[in-house]
Amino acid sequence: ATSGLFKNEPTADFTKIELRKQFPQRLNDIRAKIPVTAPLFINGRDVMTDARFASVNPALPEEILGTVHRADRTHAADAVASALTAFPSWRDQPASKRGAILQKAASYARRHLVELAAWQVLEIGKQWDQAYADVSEAIDFLEFYSQEAIRLAKPQLLSNAPGELNFLNFEPRGIAAVIAPWNFPLAISCGMTAAALVTGNCVVYKPSSLTPLTGRQLVEIYTAAGVPPGVFNYLPGSGDDIGDYLSAHPDINLIAFTGSAEVGLAICEKAARRHPEQKGIKRVICEMGGKNAAIIDEDADLDEAIPHLLQSAFGFQGQKCSACSRVIILESIYQEFTNRFVAAAAALRIGPAEDPGCFLGPVADQAQQQKILDYIQIGKKEGTVLYESTKPESGYYVPIVILGDIKPEHRVAQEEIFGPVLSVMRAKDFGAALAIANASKYALTGAVFSRSPANLERAAREFRVGNLYLNRGCTGALVERQPFGGFGLSGGGTKAGGKEYLLQFLNPRVVTHNT
Ligand code: GLU
Repeated sequence: ATSGLFKNEPTADFTKIELRKQFPQRLNDIRAKIPVTAPLFINGRDVMTDARFASVNPALPEEILGTVHRADRTHAADAVASALTAFPSWRDQPASKRGAILQKAASYARRHLVELAAWQVLEIGKQWDQAYADVSEAIDFLEFYSQEAIRLAKPQLLSNAPGELNFLNFEPRGIAAVIAPWNFPLAISCGMTAAALVTGNCVVYKPSSLTPLTGRQLVEIYTAAGVPPGVFNYLPGSGDDIGDYLSAHPDINLIAFTGSAEVGLAICEKAARRHPEQKGIKRVICEMGGKNAAIIDEDADLDEAIPHLLQSAFGFQGQKCSACSRVIILESIYQEFTNRFVAAAAALRIGPAEDPGCFLGPVADQAQQQKILDYIQIGKKEGTVLYESTKPESGYYVPIVILGDIKPEHRVAQEEIFGPVLSVMRAKDFGAALAIANASKYALTGAVFSRSPANLERAAREFRVGNLYLNRGCTGALVERQPFGGFGLSGGGTKAGGKEYLLQFLNPRVVTHNT
């Protein structure tokens, strides 16, 4: 269907025995064929390189899942050149044709949903339900953006003066570099590339070096759907090398990036620098980090707040830019909340994501593990430890850590940790809680648990983040229902999965008829 109401993919229903059986089966299928090989994909063809790197299972780093060919700048130049060649005919396809191709891509992903998800379980340590949700979100992006692109393709009649007709329409910007993160390795990659493709841009896609095999799934998905050669190119390689090269390349018109604020700002800087061949201003779409807070009001329903916050703070090991990393609690409820929250956290098991009994899995790699362990040491100096779990010995695991007595100026209250480390802070009243929540350079998500309509209304006005959730956890935004993205150091105010998102990928044009 090319129009009609958009519907999100359903979440995984593990009451169905078939689905429960499918995950171990698909994991076995993968184990029967690893290590796989992932070549580059340029101009519709696989390209082998001499330089290779391994993609491993973070729960079991000696398990090599695949050998990935590493692109260098020559390959990146080839990819941009093939995208340029493919561009005019892709641009000139009717939007309905491109939309239909993306809808085919969605159907392909739906048919292979568990197989696609199973790779994430092994490659990045995503639990079954979260890996399933990641692929579902990818499908949602494909469906939603194709619907929106078809809507935007109709020339819009603007207000008229007598004897004059004015039409607004849009055309693609050109060649998009898409630089993707590892934490939503299919969903975010698919969202950024699908938005670029459906609006008529050609794409050079660099997956994260921690999830290149999941990234390679997009080659299969788009090829199966009929995306022509050169329109979508897959270029695994190092960010410092390929990422920098693409950011500075004069033929790149737009960069879609999701990742850390540090890298995002560096991309903006490189993209802005004038190149001798410069033909325009690059549009940079940046989705960056978060230091997201949840406020627990005096009258909060803790039966509701606690499970939501366990999920927001520790789901996927806290490695979401939307994750809750600060809890701000009103004095009168501080003790009751922390007692109950710590008891609940102590019941969570940590182990391989392929074991559905484990709530937390490994973190992404050794560097992330070390960074989180370092922050735990910093947090122990700045505050007190309310709870620290044990963790498996081998594999890239970190413990759950809940820190008490944290002050807004502490590093663990200001810097993004990207792990299951939660800073707990006290506030004397609701206004003070809001002030602490807003005292961050980031402004991505937030949550408030309260039964006071006045406080909820006040939070809606004054809690300044891109996605605020009242009496709900702060992760798990859904395409179309919660367009996702923040401002401050969290991003440029663009909203993935929202109606306006595609406008970033388009140049507006107005045609005036003198009649
Ligand atoms: N959209 C995701 C959520 O709402 C977060 C995306 C991210 O971590 O980049 O939880």
